[in-house]
Amino acid sequence: MRTITAKFGGTSLADASQIRKVADIIKANPERKYVVASAPGKRFSDDIKVTDLLYSCYSEFAKGSEYSDILAKIKARYADIISELGINFDISAEIETIEYELRKYPPADYLASRGEYLNSKIIAQLLGWAFVDAAEAIFFDENGIFEPAKTYQALGEKLKALPCAVIPGFYGSMPDGRIKTFSRGGSDITGSIVARSVGADLYENWTDVSGMLSADPRIVDKPKPIEYITYTELRELSYMGASVLHEDAVFPVRTAGIPVNIRNTNSPDDNGTLIAASIPHDVKRNPVTGIAGRKGFSSIRVEKSQMNGQTGFGARLLHIFARNGVPFEHCPTGIDTISVVVNSSAFDSKRDDILREIKNELSPDFITIEKNLAAIAVVGEGMISVKGMAAKVFTALAEAGVNIRMIDQGSDELNIIIGVDESDYEKSIKALYAAMIQ
Ligand code: ASP
Repeated sequence: MRTITAKFGGTSLADASQIRKVADIIKANPERKYVVASAPGKRFSDDIKVTDLLYSCYSEFAKGSEYSDILAKIKARYADIISELGINFDISAEIETIEYELRKYPPADYLASRGEYLNSKIIAQLLGWAFVDAAEAIFFDENGIFEPAKTYQALGEKLKALPCAVIPGFYGSMPDGRIKTFSRGGSDITGSIVARSVGADLYENWTDVSGMLSADPRIVDKPKPIEYITYTELRELSYMGASVLHEDAVFPVRTAGIPVNIRNTNSPDDNGTLIAASIPHDVKRNPVTGIAGRKGFSSIRVEKSQMNGQTGFGARLLHIFARNGVPFEHCPTGIDTISVVVNSSAFDSKRDDILREIKNELSPDFITIEKNLAAIAVVGEGMISVKGMAAKVFTALAEAGVNIRMIDQGSDELNIIIGVDESDYEKSIKALYAAMIQ
């Protein structure tokens, strides 16, 4: 039988009725043997996630202020879940332990992790499954760096000895036993680590959307869902902000060749998005998988005659940005020009120093700065083998009356990145979607 690791996010576990849906999903497929749970998320748009309540509770505690109101709210969230599920779970005793332990483990991580800890214990009880505390088998070193080999070994051994188990997401422990959390949204990482440790055939990541969309739904009306996407394409689209999975969740499963399926708890019959290293040959895909973009870039264009004959000009230019702690995002070049595209937020405070150093060290003929740029990536591995893709992109933008301010095609021909004025951003995405995907 195949093994599936299923991770459920905060909105999938926000209250008892959501948890019931999750239990039905788990029971519908006996291959779902290892379940990773988040803390209860928002039940409605201005609700507060339990993890956020825990962080505010912690900050009151750390200031020496009264925190019992917030703790009472957290307790009430769980008490509602427990009574509606009709299970026998002593939340008062758990909260007492947490308050007691909090004094022993001053950093915020301990308290923040209790959202997933309690939720997972409740779900384990509802399912009649074993609960495996992530603190016992997900390890960080003394500097707080995740320890993959030690974790995969310990967690794999622990879980494979059980027919099925629920594991809390988001945290693990340090060598001295203290709890350490991943960054926010880190239950995705735990899910990936569990899938890797048990050698799962599939990592299902259940959330509140039916997978990734091929464009931003705030700009394009009902964009097509993405059924299949490779890890490489996902990286390109996530970089531009189209994110469905925590960035650090990709590595453990990607390196082990385990595909990830993003599914919707509120619409479990939808196939969602399958993320894999390669797409099965019989699947017919559009050459363009998705379009995504971001505003807030600046381009620093440096011109110097005979630049192409000078060895090391580009290296010295990029070194100036590196020295000032400003990473470059793109770097399109011409014969006598080179542009460095950077995030405006990183560049603006270093602007004067960088410009002075460029003038002093490289003596350019001209430096031109273009601000308010938006970058749009048209992404798809299928574009490599289809002629005329770039022509289609540029025609679509020309017909929409958009002035293209930068072009950068990644060397792997996986994407075409276009820089446009921020004011043309939405118009460009719409035009590109209509031409390349619709
Ligand atoms: N509960 C944690 C957070 O809100 C982790 C997670 O849900 O993935 O960031």
